[in-house]
Amino acid sequence: MHVSPGAIHIHSQHSDGSGSISHIARAARQAGIEWMIITDHDTLDGRIEQGYNHDVLTLVDQEITPFHNHFLGLNVDRVISNTLAPQQFIDATYDAGGFGIIAHPDEQLYNEFKGLFRWDDWNINSPTNLAGRSMGIELWNFMSDWGEHLTPNNKEFLYAFPHRGLSGPSKATLEWWDALNIAGKRTFGIWGLDAHAFLRPSPFGRLQVFSYEWSFKTLTNYLWLPEKLPGGFHAAMRMVYGALAQGRSYMVNRLEGECANLEFFAFRGAERWYAGDIASLRDGPITLKVNVGSDAPVRLVHNGKEALSGKTSLLTTVNTSGVYRMESTKSLTPWVMTNPIYITR
Ligand SMILES: [Zn+2]
Ligand SMILES: [Zn+2]
Repeated sequence: MHVSPGAIHIHSQHSDGSGSISHIARAARQAGIEWMIITDHDTLDGRIEQGYNHDVLTLVDQEITPFHNHFLGLNVDRVISNTLAPQQFIDATYDAGGFGIIAHPDEQLYNEFKGLFRWDDWNINSPTNLAGRSMGIELWNFMSDWGEHLTPNNKEFLYAFPHRGLSGPSKATLEWWDALNIAGKRTFGIWGLDAHAFLRPSPFGRLQVFSYEWSFKTLTNYLWLPEKLPGGFHAAMRMVYGALAQGRSYMVNRLEGECANLEFFAFRGAERWYAGDIASLRDGPITLKVNVGSDAPVRLVHNGKEALSGKTSLLTTVNTSGVYRMESTKSLTPWVMTNPIYITR
């Protein structure tokens, strides 16, 4: 399998970001990103630049942006109205053949640096006509998390040491995500950047908070693909959206170090299952393997609860159905988190 690093939730000059799509693609390439999803507010004006830019697969989608309840609407050819109620714009996205991701659901506070854009109704969790199509949750949004740590007194410090202004996905968000998957409502997780590369006046001239290239080296989504991304745009687009919607991915906070070759799979004999797959216990117990390739704590999570923990790697045989995922937190913040493998009776 090929592991393909990508970035989700980026704003360009087509809404309130400071960079052109070409500039952003070049920054992505410098940061080792192979694919990215631009999501400007309530517009698809950047769609004409969709394709490969500087060798980076550039997908141009929209962030549906009412006052609260932001939603990344993906693979849709028209702008979905932000005046609809959340259930309606989710349905409109899926009716138009797309899928989507609930953005920064658990924003908690409003301060002089950011507004409060919380997802209000946590009972809304999927399109009305689900028909086997999954939805995503942005488990961790870099700018929301960092912005909520800012105060007038620490802003210079957190600008110089941004990793000190991060907590990671909130407990409530992870519980919501786990509960949906346990209930059989397949929900994939992503980590988003919400990169804008805002330009702000300062005593030292205009500061960029933060550059696109720097942002691309923070929260990265790795897709497990059957092969390298093809050079043809449409085939590559289908591969990225397909892996994303299936949850065949894991997320890395690269501020805590790279993890480009994570092992997380289930097996029985020669059979293998990866994140997003459904494995059955009908033919016997299944063994789960985790290896992060470095000396870091690792945790196997079963139905939202820690089932096993250790360092570097885990190997365990299970006979219990449920939702299995893996995570690793280093000293300060979460480092690695996978989407689940689903094990059935
Ligand atoms: Zn938003
Ligand atoms: Zn945004």
